[in-house]
Amino acid sequence: MTNQYQTAQYRELDALHHLHPFSHHKSLREAGVRVIVRGDGPYIWDSEGHRILDGMAGLWTANLGHSRRELAEAAYQQMLELPFYNTFFKTTHPPVVALARKLAEIAPENLNQVFFGSSGSESNDTAIRLIRHYWALKGEPKRKIIISRKNAYHGSTIAAASMSGMAHMHLHSYPVYEGFRHIMDPYWYGEAKDGESPAEFGLRAARALEDEILAVGPENVAAFAGEPVEGAGGVKIAPETYWPEIQRIVDKYGILLLADEVITGFGRLGTWFGSQHYGIRPNLITFAKAVTSGYLPLSGVLVDDKIVATILAHDDDFHHGYTFSGHPVACAVALKNLEIIEREKLVPRVKEFGAPALAKMLAKFKDHPLVGEVRSVGLLGAIELVADKRTRRRFDNPGRVGLICRDHFFGEGFIMRAVFDTMVMSPPLIWTETQFDEAEAAIKRALDLTLENVAGELAA
Ligand code: PMP
Repeated sequence: MTNQYQTAQYRELDALHHLHPFSHHKSLREAGVRVIVRGDGPYIWDSEGHRILDGMAGLWTANLGHSRRELAEAAYQQMLELPFYNTFFKTTHPPVVALARKLAEIAPENLNQVFFGSSGSESNDTAIRLIRHYWALKGEPKRKIIISRKNAYHGSTIAAASMSGMAHMHLHSYPVYEGFRHIMDPYWYGEAKDGESPAEFGLRAARALEDEILAVGPENVAAFAGEPVEGAGGVKIAPETYWPEIQRIVDKYGILLLADEVITGFGRLGTWFGSQHYGIRPNLITFAKAVTSGYLPLSGVLVDDKIVATILAHDDDFHHGYTFSGHPVACAVALKNLEIIEREKLVPRVKEFGAPALAKMLAKFKDHPLVGEVRSVGLLGAIELVADKRTRRRFDNPGRVGLICRDHFFGEGFIMRAVFDTMVMSPPLIWTETQFDEAEAAIKRALDLTLENVAGELAA
């Protein structure tokens, strides 16, 4: 355990040498960072000894919770056996073979082959390359456009950020790649017209895909890409009518469907993949994060048999790959992680216990004066804060109140992330009644404290 003095030292050195991802660097330096020193199951500890309930599973990642000995041992054994070898030069190794086989077993039945990487962004870059390569091999090289959604998050490399629909990322000075189009996201609470039911809105949001395909010319469209549930965009859960309509449109125009399951993979919705929850049939699934519960970086793309058959039918190289594609230690940890998830029956447990427990807990806050909407599916949840519950008017300067609330959560020993003024959570699959009770108490206190801070801004 570190003491006060070391905390100050870590903060100072961090400010001197460490550039953090997705941060407002000036205010981060002024406020100072929190030093996280330890994790155990559903909790983490900071350097001042505070125990914090991790409602974000790291970053949508630690599905098994923190510091499982079995995962550490799997890594240790593999490091002693074969710490690294590449998979480029007509070589393979046992952990990558076993993991690819296991992933094919749990994935939808048309997805039997895996291309590995180390991050969600990389896996989406690979998917973009595969999609365009596929259409070129099929003799339709004009099919390059990939349609995705506003507020989607597919990663931070330039290609994945271009496929993402986050305007603030596109505004950065780097050029955004061409060949991506963004349609509305299925965000009923924020985008529905007066009196429009979720079912009606879901169809309208899906039909934006058909409109876009027709606008750019069906012969130019390669694929539609979407997260089964938009995560970093604010846990936006599509109405029931949305995904079946998307699948109908994808089938009608014969384009590929890419499901970005970097968040929804590995049990989060009570199925191995979110695609299975929504009954869609993707041609590619990208995954990362929870495949190892975040203990080591690993990602990949599960690829449709028809895409693989097309690649095999051509005398051509696929010029793409990463040094760490199929890293043996990461694969060994992933295999152990999936084995534990299966052994402890955590995927059905989400459906039977976690999802209803989360929904029940969140429902208790829907009448709070600050709360516009609560929503959840599986173990993904959100509390959206508004200035006027009746009109859904948001607070001025979006993100300000969310950060106030997030800091109160921290103060209460609980982590939820703020996406502008929507508080989102993604707890590990292992939460019991105890953690749901602790979360409920922390949320109640944090919302009340936030209300005290912004009471003057609320509608009368
Ligand atoms: N896709 C989705 C849906 C994500 O949520 C994320 C990260 N939060 C990514 C891709 C990018 O993953 P990474 O940060 O590992 O590159």
